[in-house]
Amino acid sequence: MSLIADNLAIVKERMTQAARKSGRDPNAVRLVAVTKTVPIERIAEAGEVDGFVFGENKIQEAQDKIAALGTESYHWHFIGHLQRNKVKYIPGLFELIHSVDNSELAEDIHRHSLKHDLVTPVLIQVNVSGEASKSGVAPSDLEELLEMLVSLSGISVRGLMTIPPFDPDPEKSRRHFAALRKLRDRMQSVNIENITMDELSMGMSNDFEVAIEEGATWVRVGTAIFGARDAH
Ligand SMILES: *Cc1c(COP(=O)(O)O)cnc(C)c1O
Repeated sequence: MSLIADNLAIVKERMTQAARKSGRDPNAVRLVAVTKTVPIERIAEAGEVDGFVFGENKIQEAQDKIAALGTESYHWHFIGHLQRNKVKYIPGLFELIHSVDNSELAEDIHRHSLKHDLVTPVLIQVNVSGEASKSGVAPSDLEELLEMLVSLSGISVRGLMTIPPFDPDPEKSRRHFAALRKLRDRMQSVNIENITMDELSMGMSNDFEVAIEEGATWVRVGTAIFGARDAH
């Protein structure tokens, strides 16, 4: 086995243990292997894992990788900041967009998706920590944003995503993950038309186990699988 395949097996085992520890079904937590900046040859070293989900954060880079590796055995998610002039490339390329945080962007995705007769599943990125430098809608504005998306038939809102401030101690992220889950529960009880809140995308290499304990359905893990990224 390659080192990357080994790392992948270890991450999956840790995910399973974290789910069990918190009394959750391990199958309810899925992995986005974050392949941003990782060259195609190294991605392929992970092996042909059927149903593998990869996360990318740049459209051009993702297009090249998707062209090379395909969408048969691999699935692709977009996890980064999405520029509005790149939205036209989105429909049909990604199965889930994790990072929608304003209505203009949502409307663009809706419009371009309809042009291709597609509905694009999205998550709403929430800035739960209130950190000024972070993308994401403020928790207090979330309900209003969701209400604005009700009529957009070209997108399908499936849940929420967050990136807490980096802290070497994963326990420091716990309250942010718990806050996202509580927000999700509240939005679920408001029961907004056409919007489901089943998915919680939270947790990265440093803190994915804590995120799983707090209810993550998607963890986004790069470094723990592919090693440290070169600074870009
Ligand atoms: C890079 C990135 C990740 C993965 O981070 P690691 O610490 O390498 O696991 C997860 N989510 C987003 C949005 C990212 O940009």
